[in-house]
Amino acid sequence: MKGYAPGWQVRCCKCGHIRDAEETGMVRLGAASWKKYIIGWCPRCRWLRFLAVEKVPVR
Ligand SMILES: [Zn+2]
Repeated sequence: MKGYAPGWQVRCCKCGHIRDAEETGMVRLGAASWKKYIIGWCPRCRWLRFLAVEKVPVR
């Protein structure tokens, strides 16, 4: 397991907007951070929101 693997996403707890975790600069997110929340910028809300860190379902 590497520190960061493609397939992580963050979901805005407010509006449900999903985007790649990589876009948030969370490249250092470790595998141990599975199921976690961070505070980040949501482009849809245009405000800071709690973002649920999730593993992207198999595409
Ligand atoms: Zn949002």
